[in-house]
Amino acid sequence: MREDSRRWIEGDRAHCWHPFTRQAEWCREEPLVLVRGEGVWLWDSEGHRYFDGNSSIWTNIHGHRHPRLDAAIRAQLEDVAHTSYLGFANPRASELAARLTALFPSGTLERVFFSDDGSTAIECAVRMALQYRLNRGEDTRTGFIAFENGYHGDTLGAASLGGVGRFTGLMQRFGLDVRRVSSMAELEATPTEWSNHIAAVIVEPLIQGVNEMRPWPAGMLAALRRWCDARGVHLILDEVMTGFGRTGRMFACQHEDVVPDFLCVAKGLTGGYLPMAATLTSGAVYDAFLGGADKAFYYGHSYTANPLGCAVALASLDVFEEDRVLETLQPKIARMAELLAGLKERSPLVHEIRQRGFIAGIELRQPDGSRFPADARTGEAVCRAAWSHGLLTRPILDTIVLMPPLATTEDELAFAVDALEKAIAQCG
Ligand SMILES: *Cc1c(COP(=O)(O)O)cnc(C)c1O
Repeated sequence: MREDSRRWIEGDRAHCWHPFTRQAEWCREEPLVLVRGEGVWLWDSEGHRYFDGNSSIWTNIHGHRHPRLDAAIRAQLEDVAHTSYLGFANPRASELAARLTALFPSGTLERVFFSDDGSTAIECAVRMALQYRLNRGEDTRTGFIAFENGYHGDTLGAASLGGVGRFTGLMQRFGLDVRRVSSMAELEATPTEWSNHIAAVIVEPLIQGVNEMRPWPAGMLAALRRWCDARGVHLILDEVMTGFGRTGRMFACQHEDVVPDFLCVAKGLTGGYLPMAATLTSGAVYDAFLGGADKAFYYGHSYTANPLGCAVALASLDVFEEDRVLETLQPKIARMAELLAGLKERSPLVHEIRQRGFIAGIELRQPDGSRFPADARTGEAVCRAAWSHGLLTRPILDTIVLMPPLATTEDELAFAVDALEKAIAQCG
């Protein structure tokens, strides 16, 4: 191992603490130290090259070191890196808010509140949904409905909406007033006096990510919108994972012509370059916060509307238009389906492929269809084995995530699926 790698790993072991990680185990292993990227490829400190199979945890859109995105950050640096959005406007934020709202039918999502990451975009929507009710004197409408196995981030409020037991178990009792349902049918069976206390419903549209990439039945989102409209309940869409082309449309809600009352975006907003998020909402919600200090929205973060983040988000939207990204994506989505169908045919351990757009979950089970014992950690073993075939991704339990940058070519896709096939064969 190179001297540099050794030093960085020792520094990590001595002082760093990783997200969602069993640290004792982590410190016994040799992590990859990622030092460089170009397009859909990443390099570690030992000089090995890997395909970025999960878009660097679902963030990267146009590839790494994209000339247009890099240039936008450099150009912004010539002006200023950061200025306060509390008390001041900034050019890139004004431009970005206009561009984002223009992606939706006019007169719908008209206002943009910037924050830092998916969790804060959700936190912001929840706080707005609650204060909207208080500002209007609807003091008893303070509950939320969320879906079983949903995931909405890790700040305390966002986490309390989540329904993934292994993440939220310990913290559940500290959060918001949340009722959980598992399907539209269950929601439709709830009595009206119950829904009268609900401020908003939150859902990951089209597909639940952390729930092992589980798609909703077609029509679910449109039905949910109707349910909300009939009861005066707001709809919050968490498009943190699905936003910016992942599902084959710019936003997942466009597949069912649904416009929410709050739309949360983060991961792909900056093309995967910088932490930045936005909560979009309607003029009607915004208006409820006008008129008097007691009505204002007392919420914000130091780096709100960071100019570098806004500049690269604008450049990412430019690339979507100039390179006709969504158009060129369609054949690649079909190619991914073909390649994964081939994988399933040849690999007895592949139980089910769940794909929506350019997002896929590949669920592994034993050849007889039963699950692997949880402590075998088969998904992790497969992803670890994939390193030596030049593929980086992470599992969710025994479901392997394949969610590459939208810039991936068909050849690169074939490379990734081939690497995965070899890794699965090695673990079978
Ligand atoms: C990643 C994610 C979040 C949380 O975003 P962070 O940027 O990690 O805080 C929320 N919701 C969904 C659907 C996500 O995939």
